[in-house]
Amino acid sequence: MSLVQRITVLGATGSIGLSTLDVIARHPDRYQVFALSGHSRLQELLGLCVRHRPQVAVVPDDQAAEWLTTGLRAEGLVTEVLVGEAGLCDVAAAPEVDAVMAAIVGAAGLSPTLAAVRAGKKVLLANKEALVMSGALFMQAVRDSGAVLLPIDSEHNAIFQCLPGDFGRGLEKVGVRRILLTASGGPFRRTPLAELAEVTPEQACAHPNWSMGRKISVDSASMMNKGLELIEACWLFDVRPEQVEVVVHPQSVIHSLVDYVDGSVLAQLGNPDMRTPIANALAWPARIDSGVAPLDLFAIARLDFEAPDEVRFPCLRLARQAAQAGQSAPAALNAANEVAVSAFLERRIRYPEIAGMIEDVLNQQAVVPLADLGAVFDADARSRQLAERWLQQHGR
Ligand code: NDP
Ligand code: MG
Repeated sequence: MSLVQRITVLGATGSIGLSTLDVIARHPDRYQVFALSGHSRLQELLGLCVRHRPQVAVVPDDQAAEWLTTGLRAEGLVTEVLVGEAGLCDVAAAPEVDAVMAAIVGAAGLSPTLAAVRAGKKVLLANKEALVMSGALFMQAVRDSGAVLLPIDSEHNAIFQCLPGDFGRGLEKVGVRRILLTASGGPFRRTPLAELAEVTPEQACAHPNWSMGRKISVDSASMMNKGLELIEACWLFDVRPEQVEVVVHPQSVIHSLVDYVDGSVLAQLGNPDMRTPIANALAWPARIDSGVAPLDLFAIARLDFEAPDEVRFPCLRLARQAAQAGQSAPAALNAANEVAVSAFLERRIRYPEIAGMIEDVLNQQAVVPLADLGAVFDADARSRQLAERWLQQHGR
């Protein structure tokens, strides 16, 4: 590894991508951008290329490549432009790359994230859906390649920081009793249940504490995000679902906690700003400035906690059931959720139908073993098909 680390940012135009580039730009002596990818926000991607001067940029198709190449050349940049999933996998696995930020949203991120894992990179994992879909195979690939997997999700990064360095021996061996996963409760924590049928995508995306992409914002409102994070935690830290407790903590100051057998509970606190976990993972095991303001406990004044309400948040129950069923169940859950969230954002279904649709779709399919990646994509495709059929029958 050279002194300056070369970074690929998959999903550079998104919320996590931009925060990552903000941290990287604060430390030009430590980090250099190797590659950036974008999907629909091409103008933004061009701007990022001008600012960060990557060697490679990746776009979805030939038309986008032509547009971007023209723009790059007009700026005097020689950036190479690659296309599609093959291009994403190339920049994730390229020999010049030291670390990959996996920040594409949804199942679309699975292949490129796995490419980085298989190439033995330092992988900064924001794309939780990739791990949820392919858990056992993903973690086996990490062990086989010797990749260093560092969690970006604020909760998992917090847990990672509260665990001893040798937690890979097994959490019971290092004295952990349980993991406490905090959740803000999102924008609808106090909305009267009868009003949930009328809430809009704009309301769902207006998170009280975090500024994020639209898909994860809806997941946070429904608490499917916490459900996906429960599954993510089981894989990252090798724990059973019943060892992970969800705690609603509306201030989002404590990012999660680890409960040890001696009664000690360690927590990681900070302002709700993703640049903290990003900087933590980028520099790990060192610490670098992230640009995040110091925590002002006097301004926060109080921290509240409550148990999650599974009547209000049925997605949390569905995710816990999928975590317990294992095998293809989390991939099926994730796929149905991706279709449901898109449909809600397009106003084809109402907010309560997100959970209703996912439950119906899951009830229509058997849980099957996932022997290889092909089986993961099959489970994903099957669940999407059932979800699309549900939409044709019930959607607007
Ligand atoms: P955004 O929607 O802001 O960004 C998503 C990124 O993925 C964009 O760069 C987008 O490109 C790209 N993208 C979208 N679809 C595709 C596709 N089919 N193929 C290739 N690239 C695609 O999401 P976030 O940054 O909020 O989230 C990214 C990931 O990080 C998610 O998995 C989320 O769960 C996770 N995460 C996010 C947190 C946050 O605070 N935002 C916190 C914890 C986890 P374009 O915009 O150009 O279309
Ligand atoms: Mg999170």
